Amino acid sequence: MKTLNACKDCHYLTEKDRCPLCSEQTVNRWRGYVIVLNPEKSQIAKKMNITKPGKYALKVS
Ligand SMILES: [Zn+2]
Repeated sequence: MKTLNACKDCHYLTEKDRCPLCSEQTVNRWRGYVIVLNPEKSQIAKKMNITKPGKYALKVS
């Protein structure tokens, strides 16, 4: 598995240097993640303001 980076802004996990969702810079210092399949049905997604399905880091430093 490739190393994933997390977006500093929306916490989206990606292999890219820039977030595909919000174009923010991504960093490799993050901990824990959630997989969101149905953002409109997920309480965590609501809390984290996630609107698109994907993997998201819980903590980004
Ligand atoms: Zn982002």
